[in-house]
Amino acid sequence: MPETPSGYAAELLDAGSMRGADPGHRNHWGYFARLNARTDYVLPRGRVLGGSTATNGGYFVRAREDDFAGWSAAGRREWTLERSLPFLRELESDADYGSAAVHGGAGPMPVARPAQGHPVTAAFAAAAQQLGYACEPDKNDWGAPGYGPLPMNVRDGVLWNAGLAYLAPAWNRPNLRILGSTVVERVIFDSGRAVGVAVAPGGAVLEGEHIVLCAGAVATSHTLLLSGVGPAADLARIGIDVAADLPVGVGFSDHPQVSLAWHPKGAAAQLRDGPAMASVLHFTSSGSAVAGDVELLPLLKPVAYLLRGEDVAGPLDVLVSLQANRSRGTVRLESADPGVAPTINFNYLADKEDRAAMREGVRAAATVLCTDAFAAIFAGFVDLPTRPDDAALDRWIADHLGTAQHLSGTAPMGSVVDQFGRVEGLRGLRVADLSILPTVPMRGPAATAVLIGERVADFIARGD
Ligand SMILES: Cc1cc2nc3c(=O)[nH]c(=O)nc-3n(C[C@H](O)[C@H](O)[C@H](O)COP(=O)(O)OP(=O)(O)OC[C@H]3O[C@@H](n4cnc5c(N)ncnc54)[C@H](O)[C@@H]3O)c2cc1C
Repeated sequence: MPETPSGYAAELLDAGSMRGADPGHRNHWGYFARLNARTDYVLPRGRVLGGSTATNGGYFVRAREDDFAGWSAAGRREWTLERSLPFLRELESDADYGSAAVHGGAGPMPVARPAQGHPVTAAFAAAAQQLGYACEPDKNDWGAPGYGPLPMNVRDGVLWNAGLAYLAPAWNRPNLRILGSTVVERVIFDSGRAVGVAVAPGGAVLEGEHIVLCAGAVATSHTLLLSGVGPAADLARIGIDVAADLPVGVGFSDHPQVSLAWHPKGAAAQLRDGPAMASVLHFTSSGSAVAGDVELLPLLKPVAYLLRGEDVAGPLDVLVSLQANRSRGTVRLESADPGVAPTINFNYLADKEDRAAMREGVRAAATVLCTDAFAAIFAGFVDLPTRPDDAALDRWIADHLGTAQHLSGTAPMGSVVDQFGRVEGLRGLRVADLSILPTVPMRGPAATAVLIGERVADFIARGD
């Protein structure tokens, strides 16, 4: 691992900022999307080595046991937790636990839990305890969901992205060639075998024995569709020859999110040092079969500061998100021209149980902020109505709807790829990103995206 990370814009390495996530940042793709019938959104995605791990918040939490159980169903035994755990241990270097039964001490991704001394973090822990939530000291050890410190891929204040972790140490290998500013447009097939990719600018073809798409769940599905891998009827409508009739872009999942903004006062109002977040609470919504399906995550700095560096005395947010929501989205091709973006529809909160769980999450966040523990630092909500009924709260949520940006499952195992990431019905083509998950992990997916890279690399190396 290099001593001094270099080559990245300084703000991308600053774990106390999220400048890369700002739609105006140069290391960013912006995909237009529709969260529901009335809410449009621009999805930022990292346009740099390391992808969105270079522009994200640095939350690095493993998927839950239930996730692995679902992914490994129907004979996909490679994806049991038991078989994935050795890779989870090997990919990390956990500064708090070191090498242990469930942790690794020497892997490429540094993991550490931030100090818990920020007044918001301290108040959040005290409030959670006061309200009877369980304590979950290690979010990466599959205990009962509760509140606890947030594992982050941060070392010495540097957001350690996957490019730094994996590519920087391999930089000088003679068999590694990195082509920057080269956009893959489609996969080229010869008699059902992938033999290369056409790239922009210029449409040159890069040939390869193994083609592995890892452009993220949006761009990978877009590339597959442009290559004729997708629902045959949709491809025919656009005039693209079908290479494989597969349900690409059908039924993806993500985490709907709303921000509950509040005015800080006193010690919490002006602090700008340290990470953007430090702790998180998971609890189970009423009637949910999934433990820990709602997440409350307090930000420690104003969003205007995190995204744009504006040092304003702005409000803080608690991010409320559903980790196991039922709504499913679609990525659909609009044109055979790679320059025309696909249509992305999230269909968020279409399900009434999702709406109920989101209401419960917002009410729980408001209750936390109104405890004695926050009395010295909480000066009121920005715009949450006082004790709204369900209909009023649904309207407020619709007005504040966002996404956690965890889009997964556009080319899932079980229908588009097999458990080794190989695209069904074709040869020489794999997918190695969040596209292959049948469902989004029930926690932020960055740790799982790295796991997928590790797993697919191993499948290739051992010839599966
Ligand atoms: C603003 C934001 C904050 C987030 N915060 C967190 C967080 O704190 N914790 C967490 O767990 N998750 C977080 N996520 C989600 C997480 O970072 C991503 O889900 C994860 O990085 C996705 O990994 P991936 O490999 O599937 O795709 P990506 O990380 O998006 O990587 C795709 C790569 O492919 C490249 N690419 C795309 N299209 C092409 C093309 N046509 N040709 C060539 N290259 C291409 C991109 O430039 C990029 O380098 C966040 C996401 C965003 C956007």
